[in-house]
Amino acid sequence: MITDIKGLHHVTSMAADANENNTFFTDTLGLRRVKKTVNFDAPDVYHLYYGDETGTPGSVMTYFPFPGMRRGHRGAGEVGVTEFAVPKGSLGYWQTRLVDKGMIRQSEDVAFGEKRLSFDGPDGDGFAVVETEDRGRTPWTGVDVPETAGVFGFNGARFRLKDASATGELLEYMGYQKADTQGNLTRYIIEGGNAADTIDLEEIGDAPMAGQGAGSVHHIAFAVDDRAAQLRVRQALMDTGYQVTPVIDRNYFWAIYFRTPGGVLFEVATNEPGFDHDEDTAHLGEALKLPEQYEAQRAEIERVLPDLAA
Ligand code: ZN
Repeated sequence: MITDIKGLHHVTSMAADANENNTFFTDTLGLRRVKKTVNFDAPDVYHLYYGDETGTPGSVMTYFPFPGMRRGHRGAGEVGVTEFAVPKGSLGYWQTRLVDKGMIRQSEDVAFGEKRLSFDGPDGDGFAVVETEDRGRTPWTGVDVPETAGVFGFNGARFRLKDASATGELLEYMGYQKADTQGNLTRYIIEGGNAADTIDLEEIGDAPMAGQGAGSVHHIAFAVDDRAAQLRVRQALMDTGYQVTPVIDRNYFWAIYFRTPGGVLFEVATNEPGFDHDEDTAHLGEALKLPEQYEAQRAEIERVLPDLAA
């Protein structure tokens, strides 16, 4: 069994409009933009990272805004809900704030003893804010969301699957423990993780498979401390028969990817070197950062990318 996974590292989704996406995360949800860079495979598209003050693994939501991209359609085989942890007693605040910002499709419920407010993002993204303890995490306070309501980071994610059994087995192999079941939901938790430590599997039987597009999660990344741990995880996954990519340098972490039996694309990402290794913490996310291979094309890239509000 793998013992190196610490919980979530980041979640990466797709959007149709960079400015709408930027406004939603930095204003509506009150996260900090911790990196403004480009899609390393398509440098005419942004890769935007939002999180806590320094982009602590377990707090980082990232987006590829492809201009005018068609919406995905929701279904089986995807991350259906990305869940943000917020302080106890703050759901009322979020209900009002989200309505004020135009997020009117909301529903409140309780799952596994946690109060949650589910809502759609700008592209129909499935989100929830979930009331939890802070567990040592501090919200970003550079915005008008009060500290008593600010997002701590991820609580976890909910996958929607035709059949949860193989993905459940994989999660257990990755160090998660089956914690509880409620109807068609099964909760998995990782002990000793970074607080972004729950995965809920929702079995939806004969629902159609999801089609990816704007508002869809592209992949979900799990955290390991360093490159040595990542190589151990890679080997263990390959020993079990998974096809895992080579290690890829993403500038702010190293990444490996593999497709899981339920259809969700998994990544394992290192906590090193982090988002503050190439700019001051005080100015994270302000300047356009390009990987070395695209520096020569900077003028052209800057001309194509839309200006973003700070
Ligand atoms: Zn990723």
